[in-house]
Amino acid sequence: MPTTARNHSQKKKTVLVIGAGVAGICAALQAARSGAKCILIEKNGICGGTLSVGGVACPGLFFGWEGKQVIGGIGWELVEETLQICRQTPPDFRRFTAENFWHFQIPVNPVIFTALCDRKFQECDIEVFYHTMLAKVQQKAQHWEVSLCGKDGLFKRTAEILIDCTGDANAVHQAGFSLSIPEECQPGTYSVRCSGYDPKKIDRDALSEAYRIAAGEGRIKPADLGWGEGFSTLFLERCGENANHINDINGGDSAGKTQLEIAGRQSLLRAYCFLKEQRGFENLDIRYCGMECGVRESRTIVGEEQVTAEDYRSGKHWAEPIAQAFYPMDLHDARKGIVKIDIPEGIVPTVPRGALIPRGSQNLLAAGRIIASDRMANSGLRIQAVCMATGQAAGALAALSMKHDCTPRDLPYPLLREELQKNKVILP
Ligand SMILES: Cc1cc2nc3c(=O)[nH]c(=O)nc-3n(C[C@H](O)[C@H](O)[C@H](O)COP(=O)(O)OP(=O)(O)OC[C@H]3O[C@@H](n4cnc5c(N)ncnc54)[C@H](O)[C@@H]3O)c2cc1C
Repeated sequence: MPTTARNHSQKKKTVLVIGAGVAGICAALQAARSGAKCILIEKNGICGGTLSVGGVACPGLFFGWEGKQVIGGIGWELVEETLQICRQTPPDFRRFTAENFWHFQIPVNPVIFTALCDRKFQECDIEVFYHTMLAKVQQKAQHWEVSLCGKDGLFKRTAEILIDCTGDANAVHQAGFSLSIPEECQPGTYSVRCSGYDPKKIDRDALSEAYRIAAGEGRIKPADLGWGEGFSTLFLERCGENANHINDINGGDSAGKTQLEIAGRQSLLRAYCFLKEQRGFENLDIRYCGMECGVRESRTIVGEEQVTAEDYRSGKHWAEPIAQAFYPMDLHDARKGIVKIDIPEGIVPTVPRGALIPRGSQNLLAAGRIIASDRMANSGLRIQAVCMATGQAAGALAALSMKHDCTPRDLPYPLLREELQKNKVILP
């Protein structure tokens, strides 16, 4: 029987996790495994966030230099079990180099991954609310009061500690703490898979001329087929995957998200109609489309500590590391394309505890792509394996703080480290 609101009492101390993307999944599971009562809130009908509704089921990177594992814990447990169920084998990580790094992300079946997560939520007795949106957070003397909006209307839950895993820092914002919102953010992408044509037989010259005419008439825009400038065959070469770009919209709130979804689907419609008219694309089909436009960047918290690009590149030794990270910084720029900064060989960046704590807050944590980091560092930290690792760390931190009757900031670090390592988190 699914775990529902009805079969739980409110007596134990509670961690409430908002957002069940990869960060929220790991935060909730770890909080429950570390002994807390846990509530998980998700606005969609499925967990996974960008991994499922965003159509980006390709978590990376769990292994780094010389094939050594850098991220373990719950994230790796979920990926490994999904692969086992699907009888898939992971890539040979020993073949990793700085040039071929993206081959070492791991395609997972999103249906199996999310069903597995649901099973684990039940096993840990996590109270899950799908189709439920955060409406309001208020800090009282001893706890948080959280108003939620379900299909039957508004209802409330209380919790000692909140973990914001919304990808957009919605809870931190509602609680009144500062956010860092970039003036220009990385483009969104509608993940699609196209079929019905041969990507090896693209007549570049004919298409380029047709594009010139259609662009002049306003029927196609550059970012529909690639980046923000000029004709590109990127969309066609990749059969759509991760190739269209929706520029200049920040999808951090409902208004921005609405704009992004509409602009994204209009972009796909333009690309489809344009291509369908071209020779060789008569049978073009969009076989699959993510249910939401994927958001690379919207807002990050202003934390007690902030990871900068230089911290990331140099593998800064933080006094209280809670997770490792591994991915080149790759900022998608609307006009320049990918701005990439490699991690020097042998370096493994880490994340400090303070990057999960909104500055000045009590009993509030953040995890996933919203952790405190500058734009460039965030372009490496936003990757799914790292989001899973920061989620797990936030879950442990929340549960242990309640157990030891202190705030997440004041919990003695050795206790956190011991708990994380007991749960297979890899730390320097
Ligand atoms: C196009 C694209 C390609 C990418 N490619 C890769 C890749 O190949 N490999 C990789 O590892 N990473 C990739 N990434 C990055 C990665 O997928 C994301 O950064 C990561 O999944 C973010 O995880 P998260 O849990 O922090 O947030 P999200 O995935 O955004 O999850 C947030 C969850 O919170 C829910 N939520 C939000 N607001 C509320 C609210 N107010 N109330 C209730 N619920 C709420 C959402 O519905 C969602 O389920 C890509 C990202 C994009 C956009």
